[in-house]
Amino acid sequence: MKIVTLHCDWIEFEAKKEAIKAAEKIEKKKHRVEECLVAFTAVEKDDERALQKTVGNAAAAIADVAGQVKTKTVVVYPWVHLTSRPSSPAAAQEALVQLEDALKKQKFAVSRAPFGWYKQFSIAVKGHPLAELSREITAVAAVKPKGGAADKQVQAKPGEKHEERAHVKIGRELDIFHMEPELAPGMPFYPPAGALVRNQLIGYMRALNEAGGWEEVWTPHVFKTDLWRTSGHLEAYADRMYVFEKDGSDYGLKPMNCPGHALVIKRRPWSYKDFPVKYSEFGTLYRDEQSGELTGLLRVRALTQDDGHGFVRPDQIQAEIASLIDVVKKLYLDVFGFSEMRFNLSTRGGEETKYIGDAAAWEKATKALRAALDQKKMKYDEKKGEAAFYGPKIDVDVKDSVGTWWQLSTIQLDFNLPERFGIEYVDSDGSKKRPVVIHRALYGSLDRFMGILLEHFKGRLPPWLSPVQVKVLTLSQESEDYGRKAAAALRAAGLRVREDFGAETIGKKIVLAHAEKAPYMAIVGPKEAAAGSVSVRDWNDKQKALKLDEFAKKLAAESASKAAEPRLCA
Ligand SMILES: [Zn+2]
Repeated sequence: MKIVTLHCDWIEFEAKKEAIKAAEKIEKKKHRVEECLVAFTAVEKDDERALQKTVGNAAAAIADVAGQVKTKTVVVYPWVHLTSRPSSPAAAQEALVQLEDALKKQKFAVSRAPFGWYKQFSIAVKGHPLAELSREITAVAAVKPKGGAADKQVQAKPGEKHEERAHVKIGRELDIFHMEPELAPGMPFYPPAGALVRNQLIGYMRALNEAGGWEEVWTPHVFKTDLWRTSGHLEAYADRMYVFEKDGSDYGLKPMNCPGHALVIKRRPWSYKDFPVKYSEFGTLYRDEQSGELTGLLRVRALTQDDGHGFVRPDQIQAEIASLIDVVKKLYLDVFGFSEMRFNLSTRGGEETKYIGDAAAWEKATKALRAALDQKKMKYDEKKGEAAFYGPKIDVDVKDSVGTWWQLSTIQLDFNLPERFGIEYVDSDGSKKRPVVIHRALYGSLDRFMGILLEHFKGRLPPWLSPVQVKVLTLSQESEDYGRKAAAALRAAGLRVREDFGAETIGKKIVLAHAEKAPYMAIVGPKEAAAGSVSVRDWNDKQKALKLDEFAKKLAAESASKAAEPRLCA
């Protein structure tokens, strides 16, 4: 929305002739308003996506100027010439009426010039610095902050006590991630150590996906808004989408992967024998979270999900859900060592009209979810009436080592997406049917999950995830040659090695290795050089002498086993 405010001695206007068919029905007469703030207003196409919010911000901006020029009289004056991209007449009129109401609620005396008319007007604008101001209003902010000022709010002001999340401090100490609030607010950067952890997580999930038949795909990050209209995101999610115009077309950055995957499956026809068809993607999504809500990696504006969409026949739901429950159990209890896990089943209930898909199909699908949970002997809470309008779902919460519960995985059934995109298959009797979609993300957001892991492990990442798996330390400089040989042998075994061959005492080197949270140290002196061994020390200061090649082999095996703790010295 574009607004020009003029502080006036007076304005006179009179509707002369209807400019459009949808012109407001009014009584033609001359209006004169004195000592007022006139807000020339153009409602734009982009505003349609979040009209109410935009109007609210516009009202706040006008009230702000009116307050500064000390007037309680406002004239809302539709003036389409402020924009090259006007909204539909219906949306414009709706916005203007809402704007009038919003200002009246703030105790302004409001007049509104008629919409859709050629109007004659004359005006006497005052000559002070605030008399003429122009503003661009969006759904996000009334006045766009310059230089990302809004994003600085999440940083501590000097002298102010700022509670920093544990993972932010650990992340900085281990050089896992950084933020650039001035240039990419809310979007994490991963320097080498962080990218390593992230790629390890992706690699492991990729292996699980392959084992479970989830084929990896890749889809673009930007789509024309027509896609978001088809998927319904433009209606339901507009406030949090990044949209822009280019060469006369509207585009949006993807806030979810589902519509992209719908296009992938739509590329060819399907038979019932082809199902299930399961696509996975490490898809980076962009969501315009409020700047005040950004906290380290837990809530960001650019996030990558280990997303997946399984297209299944209704009779395949139970088996697919059961196999996902297996993966979730293995992942959280065995691999990441969370202490507890709980399942929540959200089902249909209450206000029946809000759900799409027929009740019988829902009942069958919900039964399949319950059966899968029972089959895997999982206790769960059933939350009646908490399902999304498009299908029932299972959420998985885990409790970390410091007692915090986190909601991680979501497994969601969806009857709506195949309908919206016209996805179908030919059934055994030759009839066309719609598959059901299973949306699933196990880590959820990879970024958030990394933040959670840093807090859960208190920075001591398991050997397979740790950016540095072993630090080679020399007792004194005379052992440097052997130290280099040892480091090279460990690297050749595929291990991530850092060297510390400095002149400091071994005690100092050990302290530093602890600070860097390396799971292992390999300490070498003349004795080890003579024996072709290393003195292995883990982060709990347990020690054991091992032959160099034996240590390399064992550590590689431990890493491959995804052990949560270093155990070679036990
Ligand atoms: Zn999805």
